[in-house]
Amino acid sequence: MIRHVDVHDLVGRPGTYREVRLAEPIEGLAMPLAEIPADAPVDVELLLESVVEGILVSGRVAGPLKLRCARCLTEFGGDLGVEVRELFAAQPDAEAEEYPLEGDHVNLEPLVRDAVVPELPFSPLCKPDCLGLCERCGGDRNRAECSCPPVTDPRWAGLEALLTSDLLAENPAERNDPDDDEPGPNGP
Ligand SMILES: [Zn+2]
Ligand SMILES: [Zn+2]
Repeated sequence: MIRHVDVHDLVGRPGTYREVRLAEPIEGLAMPLAEIPADAPVDVELLLESVVEGILVSGRVAGPLKLRCARCLTEFGGDLGVEVRELFAAQPDAEAEEYPLEGDHVNLEPLVRDAVVPELPFSPLCKPDCLGLCERCGGDRNRAECSCPPVTDPRWAGLEALLTSDLLAENPAERNDPDDDEPGPNGP
């Protein structure tokens, strides 16, 4: 039980240590677009060392991530691993943000929560250059679901008008070229 890890064999015996390995689901490891699902086991591999002040806990916390792209809202997966090193003190110092050693046991859940939640990405992206959803039609622009004309910056409108008039001037010529120069297979 991550909430109740027995350490009676370590308490008051500085220099002794023991490894603890747990895999338990923990609720509430979530941000709006990123979470370790509440039903997924969180892997906890920690070394518990007895020190004069209490129990020093260090090691790694890891779990699977469920993410939602901040631009296109597609769900995708990932992994999170966080290194931790915290003191569970017999007389915790509130300013040092130490955790309490509760008699002969420690509750590792707050440590896991405090380590994991700040590492959850605030604005995950499915890929660095995700094109996101169209603001007008809501289509996923990664999948060409949107065929809206590109948004024109008013500062470029003049330039675009020039380009457009050039294209209009060129296009009829291009269209006529094959007929003029090369007879088709059925031509004379
Ligand atoms: Zn995306
Ligand atoms: Zn669109």
